[in-house]
Amino acid sequence: MTPAAYAVIDLEALRHNLNIVRRLAPASKIMAVIKANAYGHGLMRIAQALYSEVNSIAVARVHEAVRLREYGINNSITVLQGFVCQDELQAIDEHQLIAVIHCHEQLALLSNFKGIYQQPVWLKMDTGMNRLGFKAEEIAPAYQRLKSIINADDKIGLMTHLSDADQPKHPKTRQQIELFKKFVGAMQHACSIANSAAVLAWPEAVAEWVRPGLMLFGCSPFADKTGADFDLRPVMSLQSRLIAVKNLEPGETVGYGGVWTCQRKTRLGVIAIGYGDGYPRAVGNGTPVLVNGQRVPLVGRVSMDMITVDLAALPEARPGDPVTLWGAGLAVEEIAAAADTIPYTLLCGITQRVQILEQSPNTL
Ligand SMILES: *Cc1c(COP(=O)(O)O)cnc(C)c1O
Repeated sequence: MTPAAYAVIDLEALRHNLNIVRRLAPASKIMAVIKANAYGHGLMRIAQALYSEVNSIAVARVHEAVRLREYGINNSITVLQGFVCQDELQAIDEHQLIAVIHCHEQLALLSNFKGIYQQPVWLKMDTGMNRLGFKAEEIAPAYQRLKSIINADDKIGLMTHLSDADQPKHPKTRQQIELFKKFVGAMQHACSIANSAAVLAWPEAVAEWVRPGLMLFGCSPFADKTGADFDLRPVMSLQSRLIAVKNLEPGETVGYGGVWTCQRKTRLGVIAIGYGDGYPRAVGNGTPVLVNGQRVPLVGRVSMDMITVDLAALPEARPGDPVTLWGAGLAVEEIAAAADTIPYTLLCGITQRVQILEQSPNTL
């Protein structure tokens, strides 16, 4: 039985997108960022597909990394938030994870570590994001202290994170890169600056390591572009189907609050997806939906389990017909714009009820 709402994950597209990263950063090592359940695509599935192809897999938190180890991922795993207590540090050592060191408290925990700390680490500089990292005036002493704890240069990498790389030409990006490069100077450490936006638009940020996330999943981090503009392919297609079709008279309203009124005789389609599946409630009338591969406009409010569309363009549409909410044929970036959000939140936001499949049920 085909589930009502499901997401098809195209691992071929994932590999294709990884090749685009390789093309843009041919000399770089790749840390594939798959935090938050691999941006909603399923942590294990994406880790399995990627881990032997990339130099490290990055997640945000220790428990995500431990899950990957429990699944049997034996390669390098980076924890972008590092650790916040001795227990987490212990887990990082035990599971051979690579922590990001971004604050003084972590240095204190490291120097109190019982035993010999063996794992490589990244030292993070805050060049203006003002989230994690040591500021320009703190980074040199932090580096010296770290070196006294981990006295192997090849176990220390240096990284920073850009706050505005998704805005091409934003002057802050160049300032951040310069501040970072000034600190790094002639030091012989691994370095990393670039997220997806920087890989795509800021070649000067492409260092020994790159850290793409969103672009691996086929999406553009730039508001005015889609993944297709960079030859990226969507990995997730969110699918459902029509479950009812009905005829309405002019003047009738549709759904909660009656926010859409039929101007003429209307063939209305009801689709089994809603905000309970992670489809955004914020989208308005006219947001595109693909029914049988053809665009039709959403009308009325998004409810928990259903949305409604105007089927004027599709007189043949019947209950059971396939529907795509985003993915192949309809960029999630377009739906994100309609919901006044970014593609990251839509991908991460699909809920437990949505079954994740690796193949379209029609081809099984
Ligand atoms: C999430 C994250 C990335 C990846 O960002 P994308 O915009 O998805 O490419 C890279 N580096 C850090 C530190 C991150 O938190």
